[in-house]
Amino acid sequence: MNSPEHVPLGDVIGRAGNMGGGKTNALVALATNPALRGGVLFLQHIDTCRSAPDRAESRTKARYEGAIAVDSVNTLRQEIERSAARNIFIDEVQFFCQDEASLKALCELVLQIRASGRNMFWSGLQMDFRGQPFEITAFMMSISTHLELLVPTCPIEDCGRPAPYPQRLEYGHPVPRSHPRYLPDTDATGRYTYGARCSRHFCLPEAWNEHSVAIHKALELSHKDGFKQGFADGQNNLHPELLEDARRKGCEEGKIEAHIRSHQID
Ligand SMILES: [Zn+2]
Repeated sequence: MNSPEHVPLGDVIGRAGNMGGGKTNALVALATNPALRGGVLFLQHIDTCRSAPDRAESRTKARYEGAIAVDSVNTLRQEIERSAARNIFIDEVQFFCQDEASLKALCELVLQIRASGRNMFWSGLQMDFRGQPFEITAFMMSISTHLELLVPTCPIEDCGRPAPYPQRLEYGHPVPRSHPRYLPDTDATGRYTYGARCSRHFCLPEAWNEHSVAIHKALELSHKDGFKQGFADGQNNLHPELLEDARRKGCEEGKIEAHIRSHQID
């Protein structure tokens, strides 16, 4: 079997799961393990850089100094071809596959890396904000020789159940299904955030109803005006435009404030 031309396949080592599960931490720990032989090439998507483009940084600030940020599967391929490292790390694979062509290209590239005998270490988000699987992560999981699923626990009301769903929030409210699939949480305004949720606490409204749209517009306005938490000022007064808009949209008098303060966008 072992002819001189035979090249053993490389290993594929994966860390899949949800945000807040420690995927990047785990990947940085593998990359900095002194037992790893043959050099490291650590690649990440430019949209996922939390600090400098030459560092892979997790939410808990674990870092890989010397990480390279790239913006497409093409540049990913160029960096891999240019490098002599035996161990190729790709953080947050789902960011590289924002269209069909990139998905196909990355699947091919990964199989080529494996066939060349180089080892691949990857991390990826299991599901998008709608709870749908990320195709590239599913593909990577299926070819992994070593795989760990890193799922945090749900933080809502001391729930503690496994939280594999990434809940996307806009000013703290669950966004509807019609939102775009890709939206990094690096928005400096803090408008969009993510939280890990269990199946009971994950929430995906089909759409905002008319009343909610009115509240949403007012939230945006009050956020611009610097009102605390987007709807109340330092004295906890509700933004007047917010109340007015809700009234115009027919919210029952006397229930407006309670409705808005409950944070419920339904
Ligand atoms: Zn929960």
